[in-house]
Amino acid sequence: MTIRRVLLFVLALWSIPAGAQNRPAPTRTELSPGIFLFTTPSYGDVGLDGNSIAILSRDGVLVFDTNGTPSAAEAVLAAIRKLTSQPVRWVVNSHWHWDHWYGTEVYQRAFPDLRIVAHEKTRALMMGPALEFNRPGLETGLPGYLENLEKRAAADASLKPLLAEDRFFLEQKTRVRHTFPNVTFSDRLTIEMGERHIEVLNYGRGVTPGDAIVYLPAEKLLLVGDLIVNPITFALSGFPTEWLRVLERIDALDATTIVTGHGAPLRDKALLRTTMEVFRVLLREGKAAKERGLTPDQAKDAIMPGLRGLMVQVTGDDQAKNGAFRTQLVDWYLHRVYDELNGPLTDAIAAIPPA
Ligand SMILES: [Zn+2]
Repeated sequence: MTIRRVLLFVLALWSIPAGAQNRPAPTRTELSPGIFLFTTPSYGDVGLDGNSIAILSRDGVLVFDTNGTPSAAEAVLAAIRKLTSQPVRWVVNSHWHWDHWYGTEVYQRAFPDLRIVAHEKTRALMMGPALEFNRPGLETGLPGYLENLEKRAAADASLKPLLAEDRFFLEQKTRVRHTFPNVTFSDRLTIEMGERHIEVLNYGRGVTPGDAIVYLPAEKLLLVGDLIVNPITFALSGFPTEWLRVLERIDALDATTIVTGHGAPLRDKALLRTTMEVFRVLLREGKAAKERGLTPDQAKDAIMPGLRGLMVQVTGDDQAKNGAFRTQLVDWYLHRVYDELNGPLTDAIAAIPPA
């Protein structure tokens, strides 16, 4: 893997809280009365953090996704404490990517009776394969990048703040006490918390083997984790055909607010439907390309022009976003379409396709 690939991967999957005292507070958005989205800024140039959502009630709080670092989770918990004196009773982790659950230890420490919910396959991945998947980046990729940045910063003092942020990210990720789910579900778990009726759902394999969706029918609110990312969904190691079915079932739910794993909340289903359409094109055209004997890279080049209209709907034709659309959505999804055509996909975490 080249440094560039490592970085891309780090940027996409990882979050690092940086020089904690200098970190900006998370941004708070009220989604519905008593339900708040907390968005944490990225860490230097090495890490993104996932959205974290707090559902308040008269009998406790549920937190959906616990950030990528203890530092970020501490900042979110501090913000929750300003809103309510109720304890956090529930955590739900949407999936195994490390930007969504590496802050769970903070809640566990603060609330010893905490119930930590994830899909049974997600728990199994967290307890082994996910840690192995992260290990090369933590032990080699990121330290190597930092070593290089240190040399550049020695010659260019303007890089020092960035270096401090990046170092903080690595330090945070390294010292995480992995805290695993103590409640699992397979298809559905219903939580009655005070006045809130909360459904935790899995509709089959999507971006991971065990994605947890949270649905509040009364509030018409959906929390979907990385099944959709605003604006560009990150299709590494997904399950193409099943994922589209999952999104079709999500589309059938009555919801006026959809919170994605990253990015601003959606107030309509436009991005969901555009992403589904991209998936449909890639499933159809990818199969045809494979039958014609094209490699996934050749298939991508052949399919991209026909995707331009959908791409511009997603990216606004921003050049950097177009690049991310091409790599993280089209390229990675197409590789998985090919994998799927070669035989049934296992739950194992697939490697990042070579550049
Ligand atoms: Zn994520």
